[in-house]
Amino acid sequence: MKSKKFDIHSLIRENIAKLKPYSSAKSEFKDFKQDLIFLDANENPYENGWNRYPDPDQADLKKILSNIKGIPEDNMLLGNGSDEILDMIFRVFCEPKKDNILINIPTFGMYKVLAGVNDVAYKTVLLTKDFQLDIDSIIKNIDKNTKLLIICSPNNPTGNLIIKEDILDLLNRLKNVIIVIDEAYIDFSEADSWLNEVNNFNNLIVTQTLSKAYGMAGLRLGICYAQTEIIDVLKKIKMPYNVNVLSQIKAINELKNVENLKQQLNQIAKSKELLKNELLHISFIQKIYPSDTNFLMVKVDDANKRHKQLIQKQIVVRNRTNEPLCENCLRFTIGTESETKKLIIALKKLD
Ligand SMILES: *Cc1c(COP(=O)(O)O)cnc(C)c1O
Repeated sequence: MKSKKFDIHSLIRENIAKLKPYSSAKSEFKDFKQDLIFLDANENPYENGWNRYPDPDQADLKKILSNIKGIPEDNMLLGNGSDEILDMIFRVFCEPKKDNILINIPTFGMYKVLAGVNDVAYKTVLLTKDFQLDIDSIIKNIDKNTKLLIICSPNNPTGNLIIKEDILDLLNRLKNVIIVIDEAYIDFSEADSWLNEVNNFNNLIVTQTLSKAYGMAGLRLGICYAQTEIIDVLKKIKMPYNVNVLSQIKAINELKNVENLKQQLNQIAKSKELLKNELLHISFIQKIYPSDTNFLMVKVDDANKRHKQLIQKQIVVRNRTNEPLCENCLRFTIGTESETKKLIIALKKLD
């Protein structure tokens, strides 16, 4: 396909380009220094910590994230989980019934669901047997209506990082497709995040989450990084109060105490090593795949049987046997040290 120069305006849906976003008084007066009496939003005036609408720009939270991640606030957008951010990306770029997206399978199931919800066709390209990108097939499958190429790295459920040079190759070749790199598991990996490349590629969007390594799945906080041109369009369609007051406050407090988190990540890495070493000695486990995440994918003799047996032992793992290239594969999340030991004991007892 021809690769024209990137022009974000040619990629955005027409209705979104024309859209005038909702403006709340909260954001109009955010730089006002004096104390103001807010009688504009029909809130209950009696302060209890959550009687006011949340900051729609999440300025305090972004500031601390910006320090941790080393990227300006302007290149950042927060969502109610990265699921919401992915949904926003679909709604900005993909015209229902006309456009399509491309995903590399096996991968995270939400991409298909979001394509379905947004009535956008999805094309799939099979990963190679090492779970890497099939570049030729990707290029072949991209057409003029392909708006998004989603790459999950480290990938779920396979656990591996996608080779850096391959992603770079695609970024250099595909100038009029938005390339989304889902880095939900990057904080478990030694690898550099692609967010450092955001300012080199104007069609790159990187998504991350506080749900996995940061231990805040219940708060629902996803992060997206891109050049300001893209962030500004996403902001247009963002629900004004998508991240609630309690989540903002709690996340700020948690992020001030990342030392505690480092300890947890170290322990998770240790438990993962322990599990991996023990799995080597279990006869029905045929393969342990390399993992840059907080889970291990393993191939067993009979995934349905082993999955059921583990449930009988009160351990729930994920059966991925119906995913392409994942026949008879189970995915084990790394739990606490004691949970990991219980899993090992249970596995050893299965007959
Ligand atoms: C868990 C997961 C997410 C979802 O993250 P939230 O921020 O909790 O919505 C996104 N992508 C992948 C690959 C995941 O595994």
